Amino acid sequence: MNIVIFGAPGSGKGTQSEKLIEHYGLRHISTGELLRDNIAHGTKLGKVADVYISNGLLIPDELMVDVLADTLRNDTELIRRGVIFDGFPRTIPQAEALTKLLSELGTEVHAVVGLEVDEDELVQRMLERGKASGRSDDNIETIKKRLDVYHKQTCPLKEYYIKAGKYLPIKGNGSIDDIFADIRSALNAANAPRA
Ligand code: ATP
Ligand code: MG
Repeated sequence: MNIVIFGAPGSGKGTQSEKLIEHYGLRHISTGELLRDNIAHGTKLGKVADVYISNGLLIPDELMVDVLADTLRNDTELIRRGVIFDGFPRTIPQAEALTKLLSELGTEVHAVVGLEVDEDELVQRMLERGKASGRSDDNIETIKKRLDVYHKQTCPLKEYYIKAGKYLPIKGNGSIDDIFADIRSALNAANAPRA
């Protein structure tokens, strides 16, 4: 089973990914974490990513797709176990690349879990997270930019996955465990493999 966890910045993708990993034994690919690791280690990718991230912008598709393709091709265990894609795809070209890549590997995206949260709540969560995260993008100016980018570049993906019959809308407000219970029932109802 491969799942995409989808939602605005601050919607709880990372948090619910952890629950999914624990419950279904999936492997996790978080592009945000991957990029932040690279920044922390001062790699070539990290140096490029740092500029985009601190300005609230997306890393260019071509680079991001290359990184993801390398990750998937270099570790066959990922696909064997099933992957939760967290933070990827974020644009239509990325979604198309993922479809192609997975089909080359003999598999597909089985479900897209869409965490839907009000904008006010998103801003509050990211500001709160910013107090401890040390993330260069959790400040009010960059948050506004990220939300803007989300609406313009990432939101159209929802329609893309609705058309593909894969989108499962989940109300992302409330307790972590309640949200996770909703995700589990949506996956069961969608008859996702092994869910
Ligand atoms: P959440 O709080 O729901 O986990 P988030 O938006 O705060 O989500 P990440 O997914 O960790 O955070 O992403 C952080 C930043 O990394 C993005 O704002 C973007 O600049 C960059 N990034 C991550 N994934 C991609 C991607 N697929 N394409 C382009 N840029 C990306
Ligand atoms: Mg995240």
